[in-house]
Amino acid sequence: MNINLDLRRAQVQSILVSLEWTPLVTRQVLQFPLWTPGSYTVRDPAQHLNSLELRSSAGVQPLQRLAPNRWLADLPDLSPLRLTYQLEARDLTVRTAYLDSDFASLSPAAVVMEVEGFRWEQHFLSLTIPDHWTGHCPLPSNNSGWVANDFDALIDSPIHAGPFTASCFEVQGHRHELLLIGEPPHGWPATFQADVERVCEATCLLMDTPPPAGDRYQLVIQMLDSGYGGLEHDHSSVLQFNWAGLAKKDGYRQLLQLVGHEYLHQWNVRRLRPIEYRPYDYGRSIVSEGLWFAEGITSYFDLALPLIAGCSDRSMLLNDLGEEFSRVLMTPGRQLQSLSDSAQEAWIKLYKSSVVSPDSQVSYYRLGAATAFCLDVRLRAVGSSLADLLRSLWQTHGKNHRGFHRRDLAAWLNPFEPQLAIDLDLWLDQTDSLPLHDCLAMIGARLDPVPLRHPHHGLTLSDSNGRVVVRRAASDSPARASGLVPGDELIAVDSRRLHSSEDLSLMLSIDCPATITYARRRCLAETQLIATQGVDRWTLGLESGASPEQQDLRERWFRFL
Ligand SMILES: [Zn+2]
Repeated sequence: MNINLDLRRAQVQSILVSLEWTPLVTRQVLQFPLWTPGSYTVRDPAQHLNSLELRSSAGVQPLQRLAPNRWLADLPDLSPLRLTYQLEARDLTVRTAYLDSDFASLSPAAVVMEVEGFRWEQHFLSLTIPDHWTGHCPLPSNNSGWVANDFDALIDSPIHAGPFTASCFEVQGHRHELLLIGEPPHGWPATFQADVERVCEATCLLMDTPPPAGDRYQLVIQMLDSGYGGLEHDHSSVLQFNWAGLAKKDGYRQLLQLVGHEYLHQWNVRRLRPIEYRPYDYGRSIVSEGLWFAEGITSYFDLALPLIAGCSDRSMLLNDLGEEFSRVLMTPGRQLQSLSDSAQEAWIKLYKSSVVSPDSQVSYYRLGAATAFCLDVRLRAVGSSLADLLRSLWQTHGKNHRGFHRRDLAAWLNPFEPQLAIDLDLWLDQTDSLPLHDCLAMIGARLDPVPLRHPHHGLTLSDSNGRVVVRRAASDSPARASGLVPGDELIAVDSRRLHSSEDLSLMLSIDCPATITYARRRCLAETQLIATQGVDRWTLGLESGASPEQQDLRERWFRFL
């Protein structure tokens, strides 16, 4: 299978894709992947496709559309075929396709169609690019481009092209490439590449193995004016970060955590994969509760990787962990959605979140990280650790590509502490069941509420041309009790006109009923709202009077490895 991507039409942000092959059967099915591994929602990349044409030596072959992303060709013979189409490339994320006159960033799952019968065949990839550009892809190269052993390897290999060059660094003696696209206004921090190396080394220490990608790993970082995210691959990760985020107090550490997060995915999720993703089915949504382990465990350790790498300290770790726990506690949806459900519903909930989502769902990243912490502390208490569990699972179910299931976690936990295997079932299946405060107390730490500085009303508001509109009325809040709903326009408080969302907090007093005048579908109405004393966030701190046992467990927990 020969694939060429022509990237010379940057002015119209359109890629010309061509596939050439000799069919094995006369009934040839073509299919565009519905989703990209690592990003668990159906994105229908076929929506960006046009001018689809299939040709053989006999001329244009008719294509029958079987589904929005599937086509059938009934061929007269088995002569070689050439499929061409154009793809709009205007979506600059780590999981889509983007092209402009500066560079191209392509996730192949959003670009290349799968030809039925050729999934496990070699795919040869070439780029046609402007003269001053170079192409970058983590696949092994050949004379004309790159070679993928099968379709999976192809779509797991992000493609970048532009007038930039990669630099090299080593991790445990293995050669890696660093490709930086864009630049912060004041340049990259002087220690950046050295710190990236240290975080990657720390990840290998955590896993106690060299990088599974060996000598072929490409770390791509896009520094943009806006955007945040990452996507993991077997031999690469693509990160997006933004200038404003980097300039914030904790921004640089968060960038290093993102680097560590995606690097750790080399083990956890790419190769140590939930059983449901062996192999991937690109044609439909595949549900897996194992995503809590893939993302929760990785999110927990990514907070610690800068500490392990010597780029951060314990107080920063407690700060970051406290923020993570605080976000869980401030999400009412944890009382409605279990961790297992959150992972299984990723396709339709987490990846389709809106401003009202915290009332009905909880992130399996964040609750998963809090669960990882509880597992770690409970395992440290019996002489083991979460790192032990991860390393062991890697040896038995990861490096041999077996895939894992919940029962494999239970089987590992049972010999150490049978009760923990039972408790994990509870934490996964029962809403709001995680004993976070108890596990913090085991290491002499606690979460304290920080009171809101203004009266608590529970409304999330938007300001637009002097109109103050409700976007969310949080569950269990004064706003919910008042009957206000998203879309209501707030007009006045106790007959005083409201001009901005900030006015509301100034006009309310704790425990004093206020009359809210609002408009719903252009009709005015009134309701009572009684603001309360609310919690802004929770902070994590260490007990100064911790017992020797608590201090001992805390010291062991701080090791992480
Ligand atoms: Zn992740």
